[in-house]
Amino acid sequence: MTDDNKELTEQTDAQVQETEDPSEKKEREDEYEKICFLCRRPESKAGKMIELPNNIHICTDCMQKSFDTMNHGNINYADLMQHMPNISMIDFSGLQNRVPQKQRTKKKKEKGEKPKLSIRDIPAPHKIKASLDEYVIGQEHAKKVMSVAVYNHYKRVFSDTDDGVEIEKSNMLMIGPTGSGKTYLVQTLARLLDVPLAITDATSLTEAGYIGDDIESVVSKLLAAADNDVERAEHGIIFVDEIDKIAKKKNTNQRDVSGEAVQQGMLKLLEGADIEVPVGANSKNAMVPLTTVNTRNILFICGGAFPDLEEVIKERLNKRASIGFGSDLKDKYDRDPDILSKVTLDDLRKFGMVPEFLGRLPIVFTLQGLTEDMLVEILREPKNAILKQYKKLLAMDEVKLEFDEGALRAIARKAMEKDTGARALRAIIEEYMLDIMYEIPKDDSIGQVVITEEYIEHRGGPRIYLRGQEAPALEETLQQP
Ligand code: ADP
Repeated sequence: MTDDNKELTEQTDAQVQETEDPSEKKEREDEYEKICFLCRRPESKAGKMIELPNNIHICTDCMQKSFDTMNHGNINYADLMQHMPNISMIDFSGLQNRVPQKQRTKKKKEKGEKPKLSIRDIPAPHKIKASLDEYVIGQEHAKKVMSVAVYNHYKRVFSDTDDGVEIEKSNMLMIGPTGSGKTYLVQTLARLLDVPLAITDATSLTEAGYIGDDIESVVSKLLAAADNDVERAEHGIIFVDEIDKIAKKKNTNQRDVSGEAVQQGMLKLLEGADIEVPVGANSKNAMVPLTTVNTRNILFICGGAFPDLEEVIKERLNKRASIGFGSDLKDKYDRDPDILSKVTLDDLRKFGMVPEFLGRLPIVFTLQGLTEDMLVEILREPKNAILKQYKKLLAMDEVKLEFDEGALRAIARKAMEKDTGARALRAIIEEYMLDIMYEIPKDDSIGQVVITEEYIEHRGGPRIYLRGQEAPALEETLQQP
């Protein structure tokens, strides 16, 4: 955290305090755990706190240590400092509320209190899929698999294990090209279920002790996404993107700190373990309080494009096809667009994923590369489609915006050329809409703009109609799938 940010957090805390009425303030304070000003442990770990003026709390251990040090007769300041790392020159007036809001965790609920999330809050798989359908185009198989897996995951969370039957965790591995909607699917899912979500990039992770984020930092991110509410975080989702980048490096003699070691390091998180995480920061240090998050009920979804995996699959299939009677053409699979869906665990192992890691991601599924037709649909169909967003913006100026079919196809074609899936769409549209958004509000008499194929292909301009002017019925063409 930069100093600016720190100041800002503290300022905002102070502002809230100024304007809030005292009973509300007390209620708000009660929701958070007290943190020892000296050792930074929260109340749940350090036990009861002694309250000092200016909202400072000290745990009994630290208080005892301080007395012990002083009672030795001759105060050894070096020793004192060691026990009290946060105090250099004691000036209590300047210490008001030094633990920023961001670094405080919410108290755990008392036993018997209603849990925040219950199985009744989790919709049945067909309902989850129907909601995903409103946002995500295509990827039918992926949506179905995810809906069932998530439903089962939360059933597992709320099930008891008294009968000795423990449901296996449904962590997932999704394989699909860039921009095919992996992150978007997970984001949509988390929003629908109203659970916190943390998204991390596997490339930034390294084995603890090396430069980069250590693996446990993903849990700390989730805690932040859950507003420092440990209980909510423990039911959340962690999405680890670019998981293919931590494949075992081939032909290397050095220690593989960002590849195989990260996979090994993630094993216990995936399985379920108590992890000590810093609150409100990415790394552990003396100044940040720690709390414990159990990952047993956190759903892990790993995603990656696995660029060379197709070759591995092809090699296996071609080898099989060319052996024995009725052998197929040797290059039968070379042009199969759906080759990724034929992936097996063996292929993934060959790619460089360690077997124990794969064992903890029992649900593996693939996403299709997006076709031109799907890109056109993505432009106009989803609930918050890009076109709908631009239409809304211009509608605020009382201008109707339309795209003709040819224009949509031309945008989709351009996006296909970029080979980054749906991600390219927004950049392309933005480029064309800049002039429109700049020019149109200048002239009050304009009532409708139609973006044409000619405009997208730089062969002409958009069609512009003045208010009250008869416009062709474009609505119908746009409504057709
Ligand atoms: P990746 O597969 O690389 O994680 P993203 O999920 O980040 O791709 O996709 C980038 C953007 O493209 C998303 O924010 C979303 O708006 C759009 N998008 C991608 N795939 C789809 C899809 N199948 N349906 C609707 N929008 C999509």
